[in-house]
Amino acid sequence: MLPTFMPVATQAAIKGLTAHQVEALGVSLILNNTYHLNLRPGIQVLKEAGGAHEFQGWRHNLLTDSGGFQLVSLNKFTKITEEGALFASPFTSEPTMLTPEESISIQHAIGSDIMMQLDDVGPRVGEAMWRTIRWLDRCIEFHEKSGKRHQNLFAIVQGGIDHELRDQCLEEMIKRKDRVAGYAIGGLSGGEEKDIFWRVIKQCAEKLPEDRPRYSMGIGFAEDLLVCVALGVDMADCVFPTRTARFGVALTFQGPLNLRLSKHAEDMRPVDENCPCPTCADGTSRAMLHHIITIETAGAHAVTQHNIVFQARVMGGAREAIIGGTFPAYLKRFFASYFGDAGYPEWCVNALRSVGVDLLADKPDVQVIPGDGAKWEYSDTT
Ligand SMILES: [Zn+2]
Repeated sequence: MLPTFMPVATQAAIKGLTAHQVEALGVSLILNNTYHLNLRPGIQVLKEAGGAHEFQGWRHNLLTDSGGFQLVSLNKFTKITEEGALFASPFTSEPTMLTPEESISIQHAIGSDIMMQLDDVGPRVGEAMWRTIRWLDRCIEFHEKSGKRHQNLFAIVQGGIDHELRDQCLEEMIKRKDRVAGYAIGGLSGGEEKDIFWRVIKQCAEKLPEDRPRYSMGIGFAEDLLVCVALGVDMADCVFPTRTARFGVALTFQGPLNLRLSKHAEDMRPVDENCPCPTCADGTSRAMLHHIITIETAGAHAVTQHNIVFQARVMGGAREAIIGGTFPAYLKRFFASYFGDAGYPEWCVNALRSVGVDLLADKPDVQVIPGDGAKWEYSDTT
């Protein structure tokens, strides 16, 4: 079912929704964060529960990260050595080491269907890239010896925004193709310019083997997803659609709607009358959502469900269009509807042109916005 978008369930739950509700939305793959699950409830509890699927009542696929990225971003004293990442336990302050083997061992206990290698996300890009390759070998070795071959290990391509380092990393990781199930493109979405971002994605997606899924980490805006898919990406995850929902922003094919704004106070239309999500299908009005969004958790749940279904529709539409040979037309329709008078982000125009899709071909009057593109009404809340 690729390309696909994965909602993020950091603490073994998508905020505000039960596993049953997520399943009812048609979601078949979610992401759990290894770092958080390892701290709480901890591996012992997960083992007793029979793994994270059982623990959270989730019958579909589960992807886990390595735990490394969160460790570095949440613990300021983390030190990367050749052996692993050394950090102070947030509970006891004891020095604790996360090695590549330990990361895989935790992900084995979690029982995720897709596991990520531990990668070095340190600031010295070249050194971190080569260490990431050495750590991949340790992850592969540990995993192959474990007998847990039903769990799939993904490599993470590093190399920052340096073209040559990326190429070297790609070359090394492609050599290990028969020992990994897929590839993630790491080292991005750290605030780099979009014009650089898409070129790195394209460079990686073009070189990575056709018969392995390619996963772009931390990508969540609809236009980012579609550009990445056009460049060859199969999987993406992001907290954005569910986080922005809790701030009252509903995503639609006409652009995001900030339901907190008073202009929605008397609007009896659903968020999107063509949307099959429970919120829209029940006819819940924008006025009602505006009324409860900041005061009743039910409002956040309603918009969260809608946004998850929106992401699935964006990716599902892309999937059908690719199969039907109409993907360029789908992209043009999406951009015309989503950006309309707001103008098209220049980086999207350039990225899609690089793969032969000219968004401006029959739209001579459309405005092209330089830089990272349109600023939506959600920009101050997310
Ligand atoms: Zn909806």
